[in-house]
Amino acid sequence: MCIFCQIIANEIPAEKIYEDENILAFLDIHPNNFGHTLVLPKKHCENLFDADEKTLENLITIVKKISLAVKSAVEADGINIGINNGEAAGQIMPHLHIHVIPRFSNDGLVHWPSKEYGAGEMEKIGEKIREVIKSS
Ligand code: AMP
Ligand code: ZN
Repeated sequence: MCIFCQIIANEIPAEKIYEDENILAFLDIHPNNFGHTLVLPKKHCENLFDADEKTLENLITIVKKISLAVKSAVEADGINIGINNGEAAGQIMPHLHIHVIPRFSNDGLVHWPSKEYGAGEMEKIGEKIREVIKSS
């Protein structure tokens, strides 16, 4: 059983802040800012891509509710919401979870650096993605 499934099963402790039949939310043990929360489906799936649509609809609704609660509780100025899908994207825990990270105007956290497209590259990648969407 994965560590998050063990938290769901109450086999290891966590600072839980929300629970219903399908969803659990608890504080991240190594927060980017205090109040950083993880929201996850109780049904084990590895990442966004193997979660079923109904689970995802439910999850995003609860993420909104929890984000507003976290924002209010820690008096945050903003909230980052993110999912790391796959090792290359920084996923460490192999059970889908959504990060709800409170942000403060002066918290000093730095966003990812951006890149510049060369001539024609943006259009080429846009076309490739449109093709995949069309054939899916
Ligand atoms: P990710 O890189 O998206 O897989 O993030 C995994 C997150 O889970 C990290 O931010 C960890 O700090 C957090 N984490 C790992 N173990 C625990 C735990 N036992 N309780 C709470 N948060 C945890
Ligand atoms: Zn699991």
